[in-house]
Amino acid sequence: MITSKTSFIALIGNPVSHSLSPIMQNAALQYLGLDLIYIAIPCKDEDLELVLNSLKKINCKGLNITIPFKEKVFELCSEISPIANKLKAINTIKLNSKQEWSATNTDVEGFIYPLKSISFRKKQSLVLGSGGAARSVIQGLIDLNFSIISVVSRNEESLNKLIKNFENQIQIKGLLDNDNRTKNFIEEADLIVNTTPVGMKTSKNEVNILPYGDTFWRSLNSKTIVYDLIYNPAPTHLLKYSDKKGCITIDGSQMLVAQGMKSLSFWTNGLEVPFHIMNEALRKYL
Ligand code: NAP
Repeated sequence: MITSKTSFIALIGNPVSHSLSPIMQNAALQYLGLDLIYIAIPCKDEDLELVLNSLKKINCKGLNITIPFKEKVFELCSEISPIANKLKAINTIKLNSKQEWSATNTDVEGFIYPLKSISFRKKQSLVLGSGGAARSVIQGLIDLNFSIISVVSRNEESLNKLIKNFENQIQIKGLLDNDNRTKNFIEEADLIVNTTPVGMKTSKNEVNILPYGDTFWRSLNSKTIVYDLIYNPAPTHLLKYSDKKGCITIDGSQMLVAQGMKSLSFWTNGLEVPFHIMNEALRKYL
């Protein structure tokens, strides 16, 4: 029950009305019996500093930060974890003992969660897309000990930037989507991760399409695990196609739940958060 002692955690971004975080976070908070609620607060660009400074003064126990503030919020935080610094993106903050914002990023842990029981030493992976999520995915693939990472993108500028960011840490190669060599990379990949929004349900998007078109996927074979970060729909057209080819498939809902689980653990100073409670709550809304 909400009482006069209840505190809150919030999601700050714009837009936030589509977010599923309140659904799964409130289910976990209730299960854990914490006197806390989770709400979504839409925020205009010009109000970010005012909103974050105001939240310091009231009973706010932490925040999730989403688009378009994941980079902008750096200047408002006084403590930043190594992983957030590395990714140049923040998705979770809380107040430290000096009442200053302390920040981290839980996307890498979220991405790894469904893969962590599999050994990928000396394995090859292929990442599709070169935006914000691709950065977390590549860091996750490095942490999982992949030996070769290739990235396919239609955007040469962001692709080059991304490769440059990681090239001193791992054998990483960038390819444009019309490069003929992509066929071989698909054939040899042990894991393919789609980080493009192709196949995602929105008011504008066509859902029954494959990233980079049907021809791109012809050499896909059953030894490859196909992981799509999209969670709506789950499975996507890509995952249905891959399943028919005999591949193991993973949809984005596990990553969504796991990054939320790690955020809640951060706000509550390490509390063990139940994955299945958050996952079941989410499933009802997908
Ligand atoms: P982003 O920064 O906008 O990056 C998207 C990437 O996909 C860019 O490289 C973009 O290329 C490319 N792309 C967009 N439309 C394309 C198309 N029609 N064909 C080929 N490439 C296309 O977005 P993001 O933050 O990385 O998110 C990407 C996806 O991951 C979204 O669907 C998001 O919902 C999902 N995601 C899921 C989770 C989760 O927890 N499951 C977490 C994060 C993200 P251009 O630069 O040329 O547009």
